Amino acid sequence: MSASVKIDLHGLDGAGMRALVASVGGGAKVAAQVMRSLYADGPQEIPELQGVRRQLLQRLSQVATIGRLRVVRALPSDEEEPTTKYIVAGDDGLEFETVVIPAGDRSTVCISSQIGCRMGCTFCQTGRMGLVRNLSAAEIVRQVVLARAALAGWSSRKSRPITNIVYMGMGEPLDNFDAVWLSYRILQEQRGLAIPRRRITISSAGYLPGLDRLAMQGVPVTLALSLNASSDAIRSELMPVNRPWPIERLLAFAEDFPKRPDRSVMLEYVLFEGVNDSDADVDRLASLLAGRQVKVNVIAYNPVPGVPLRRPAPERVEAFASSLAARGVWTMVRQSRGRDVMGACGQLGGGGSSQ
Ligand code: SF4
Repeated sequence: MSASVKIDLHGLDGAGMRALVASVGGGAKVAAQVMRSLYADGPQEIPELQGVRRQLLQRLSQVATIGRLRVVRALPSDEEEPTTKYIVAGDDGLEFETVVIPAGDRSTVCISSQIGCRMGCTFCQTGRMGLVRNLSAAEIVRQVVLARAALAGWSSRKSRPITNIVYMGMGEPLDNFDAVWLSYRILQEQRGLAIPRRRITISSAGYLPGLDRLAMQGVPVTLALSLNASSDAIRSELMPVNRPWPIERLLAFAEDFPKRPDRSVMLEYVLFEGVNDSDADVDRLASLLAGRQVKVNVIAYNPVPGVPLRRPAPERVEAFASSLAARGVWTMVRQSRGRDVMGACGQLGGGGSSQ
């Protein structure tokens, strides 16, 4: 059997691991130990798994493997607590990007779900690549494994835990539904990375076929939807996904989505100077959102080379957010990190530094 058809251990949730281990003669306890060692000991090869009989590991090696993620470049920002963009390569050598954002004793990892993206948002570096390929569940999970190792290496005094995961890197997560949904479950495995569900955010540009599949799972996922405009005319210009699935359908979806009672769907609103940041936009947005259980994150655009869109002045960003809040919409301004290494929102896929 060639390595390419072996099962990648990072792509298995608990049930998948039990089925695999059963197929080579091991029971549920052995499967649990394989899962524990895979994430606690960081083995590169199956024989390095701890606490499992050698004969069973030999049989496991014949049907399974542990894939690699090679760090091509690590680009730390020049912030006091550097955000680091990792350009990594999968087993086929194709590159994608993961961003690790430390903040005090917490840290957020922004993971990619595709290499490139076919949604074609005009402001986005990744969108300009088109879709190259989907990432596997194992490749998505391995980005978190890599981030955890990097964070442990940076802090000699104490290891900084990963507190949040956001599916906001390269790609439209719900256009790669099966791999993303499997990876979402794997990240939560108690014997694995054990990231609490409420700490994992799945984002979407508003790709309704994928969002509908997500809703059908009946799980109260923390969800962030990119709105980015107060009218269909503007949103269709910025985000072609708006043409088949316009704002009203997106907002109707957000209201019906099976969220936790104490949570709202987050709407991301990237501000582009002179495009969607006027007082009239505030008025339209406030009318659109009146009475809906949503929250708005306002984010100043992070420029992408060759894209004729501008970042508004900080005062305009604050004024926009406070006017919207004054109209009764729960609003906050989100600061982007890692802009100088093209590691901020919408900037992934360009490789190196913007400088
Ligand atoms: S913003 Fe997101 S959905 Fe739009 S092109 Fe970029 S990666 Fe794709």
